[in-house]
Amino acid sequence: MRPHRPRRSPRSRSSAVGLVLLTVAATACGGRGGDDGGPGASGVRDPYFPKAGNGGYDVTHYALDLAYDPGAHRLTGTATLTARATQDLSAFNLDLVGMDVEQVTVDGAAARRHRAGQELTVRPRDGLDRGARFRVTVRYSGAPVTVTDPDGSEEGWLRTADGALALGQPTGSMAWFPGNHHPSDKATYTLAVTVPKGLRAVSNGEPAGEETKGNRTTHRWRTTEPMASSLATLAIGRYTVDRGTAAGGLPVYTAVDPEQAEASRAVLARLPEVMAWAERTFGPYPFSSAGAIVERPGDAGYALETQNRPVFPGAPGTGLMVHEIAHQWYGNSVTPRTWRDMWLNEGFATYAEWLWEEDHGGDTAQQTFDALYAGTYLRDAEANEALWSFPPARPPDAAHISGVPVYQRGAMVLHKIRQTVGDSAFSALLRGWARDHRHGNADTDDFTAYVERSAPQEDFDGIWADWLYGEGKPERP
Ligand SMILES: [Zn+2]
Repeated sequence: MRPHRPRRSPRSRSSAVGLVLLTVAATACGGRGGDDGGPGASGVRDPYFPKAGNGGYDVTHYALDLAYDPGAHRLTGTATLTARATQDLSAFNLDLVGMDVEQVTVDGAAARRHRAGQELTVRPRDGLDRGARFRVTVRYSGAPVTVTDPDGSEEGWLRTADGALALGQPTGSMAWFPGNHHPSDKATYTLAVTVPKGLRAVSNGEPAGEETKGNRTTHRWRTTEPMASSLATLAIGRYTVDRGTAAGGLPVYTAVDPEQAEASRAVLARLPEVMAWAERTFGPYPFSSAGAIVERPGDAGYALETQNRPVFPGAPGTGLMVHEIAHQWYGNSVTPRTWRDMWLNEGFATYAEWLWEEDHGGDTAQQTFDALYAGTYLRDAEANEALWSFPPARPPDAAHISGVPVYQRGAMVLHKIRQTVGDSAFSALLRGWARDHRHGNADTDDFTAYVERSAPQEDFDGIWADWLYGEGKPERP
């Protein structure tokens, strides 16, 4: 993510960089399989969002069949999740906010259901054995809601001038489909989205056909690489679409609100160049297509690295595009294990901006680091002070997972590592981290262990103690 509002993250000084449970149904389980199992947990104990995600199963695929009418603001959906039980289960939870649930089946048989807050508990007729593959189908409808995060930003289902935009970091995807909404459970996706003829529905992955019947058109999308649900997007509206290719024939699909088409033309034309630079810097691109979705300013309060094609509220600057493309490696392919590890997303994406500047005649990363330390980089005094308000690997609460230290001080941690190991080892480290955890999850301990393994002759304890976990401003830059 990179917020546009200085309240959350400061604009950089360089204009070139852009701005910057629940009780389950009361009866005991009468099923045959999984009799010994209890219900799956209602959350995966994320330090900041304890109810996000659910225990007892792992989703491998989401098939979402949706229809949305912007005029009526009504979404109807059938979500079919293919999953594997990781324990014997008498019941399990899905996360969903808003929407009316009309029917739930497990492997084709009607299942009992119960809702409390964001938890939808499903009690299959027969219990599920550990290791069992099963399919749960949820039919639902209603007016999808906008979710306000602890930090005040809005996500979930956002209504736009000509349609809607769904954004899900950190928890908003539960506003438009039921699922295991925590980044630790990644899955593949297929979407079929039916909208009034003349509108378009754009999502992650690759387009998989469209058909018009009467006055409605169904747009299909397919995501074949694992994706955290927080990175799923759905953009409905009028778009100017461009299909091109980047190096190696990688398909590039961009969808731009016609009002933003002219303002976006030059920066989007550089997308293949940015992709080529990013592949040189971070290693092979982890996904099978790239692109961008450009909405109108104000349609969202921030840009987001939605998988394959980031969403921008208004034409982005080059620095912002670099940031969101870097996330495809750091965040989308290598996904944090919990929301506490957010700096592994934002520190890397911010450092990518510094590297781009350095490689394109701007400030070196060292100059950027020095200016940050001196308090002259960020635009306002408040942001410069906020930089030292908490350590990047330990945000104090859910309202701070997108705070200034997570971005800028996270990038400073990477620069301290670079100072220690040297440029060439640091380049190898950037690529190796992305390679070793490609399409997986990783946390801060994994990262520090990886760095220490990469350079066993060096001592990183001071960097971890002062820059990663230390309170306040380190005494020396
Ligand atoms: Zn970001």
